[in-house]
Amino acid sequence: MNTYDAVIVGARAAGAATAQLLARHGLSVLLLDRGQYGADTLSTHALMRGGVLQLSRWGLLDEVIAAGTPPVRRTTFRYANDTVPITIKPSYGVDALYAPRRTVLDPILVDAAVYAGVKVRYGVAVTGVRRDLRGTVTGIVGRARDGSVFEAKARIVVGADGIRSTIAECVGAPFERVGQSTAAVTYGYWSALETDGYEWNYRPNAASGVLPTNGGQACVFASATPRRVGRGGIEVLTKIVAESSPDLARRLAEAAPPSSLKTFTGLRGYLRRSWGAGWALVGDAGYFKDPLSAHGLTDALRDAELLANAIVDGSPEAVADYQATRDALSTKLFDVMDVVAGHGWTDEEIPGLLLQLNAAMADEVDAIDALPVPPPHPLYASTPRC
Ligand SMILES: Cc1cc2nc3c(=O)[nH]c(=O)nc-3n(C[C@H](O)[C@H](O)[C@H](O)COP(=O)(O)OP(=O)(O)OC[C@H]3O[C@@H](n4cnc5c(N)ncnc54)[C@H](O)[C@@H]3O)c2cc1C
Repeated sequence: MNTYDAVIVGARAAGAATAQLLARHGLSVLLLDRGQYGADTLSTHALMRGGVLQLSRWGLLDEVIAAGTPPVRRTTFRYANDTVPITIKPSYGVDALYAPRRTVLDPILVDAAVYAGVKVRYGVAVTGVRRDLRGTVTGIVGRARDGSVFEAKARIVVGADGIRSTIAECVGAPFERVGQSTAAVTYGYWSALETDGYEWNYRPNAASGVLPTNGGQACVFASATPRRVGRGGIEVLTKIVAESSPDLARRLAEAAPPSSLKTFTGLRGYLRRSWGAGWALVGDAGYFKDPLSAHGLTDALRDAELLANAIVDGSPEAVADYQATRDALSTKLFDVMDVVAGHGWTDEEIPGLLLQLNAAMADEVDAIDALPVPPPHPLYASTPRC
């Protein structure tokens, strides 16, 4: 059985990013996923400034742009009686936002991990952790696609395995915060939709938006209470869009609709304890908030770097500090999102809530910018774009 400095379970935003950073620091890393390379997942994909900044700092933003991801230079918020267009100002070396499909972003992160020296195995479903006599986690056990048992030993096992994290369950990671609200979201990809950037529309129990993405398509989503969204679909989306923005409804009617939509039926936000003897959690495995925040990917990339730095440091205090920093940077956004996801706000209240959200994001970008630049990637330039 091979022994690694780190075994990471989950090869998407959080796991692949953590893996490539650890490998850049010279650690031996095994990255496992039960799925397939390049497969899509249930997620829209708007990156906020912090996420774009991370890709830029790691030298990977050019890959995202080369994949034909359109730059987003304007964000428009629409409320009951107000439309607020905001131009994305260049700062921290970021002059545009991007919403790459997960079929684009996740392989870029995995490739970066492979080129940095990470060993990647798909088709391995991890089912448990191994511990020593003191209870310290020392490795994982799982099953490969051919039914064979798969085992690996590691100094640290990282659960980057998403909202139903097996690693979090196996180590008994307690929920330290659980939100009150759940929203549901239904979304799909329109072609030939007239749009000039991110769009976010907010009316009581009817939020919607547009995220321009690869292949000349735009992801259009609608969010409301789970009761209202139900199983989702185009009729539900069209009604919610018509209520939240008649202007977007008109443009949707002129565009080419998708043949099917995807629907997320909702989950309350949480923060889980994310470290212990021989283990850590990163990404949705340890911290989840409603998708209407459009912030899970940005947080996953941020926390990947915080965790990688802590693992490289190697002391238990550093891993504890990782969680403390994550929580300090997340709590404001988590609390506001819990209110927004409740869909119980009024037309008068929502602009103020979004201002609070925006302030929380600004703090995060400052914190990312202050992180030490990781060692250069063997293949990609790590100089931030200016
Ligand atoms: C509907 C929806 C819309 C969203 N929209 C946005 C958005 O616009 N912007 C944004 O920033 N965020 C958005 N999010 C949030 C975002 O999708 C997540 O925050 C992000 O995917 C977290 O990445 P992750 O790597 O932690 O987990 P995931 O992307 O969930 O990846 C986990 C990986 O672990 C693997 N795995 C799980 N269990 C095992 C196991 N036992 N063994 C082996 N492998 C395993 C899975 O196969 C998967 O590949 C949205 C979420 C949803 C549900």
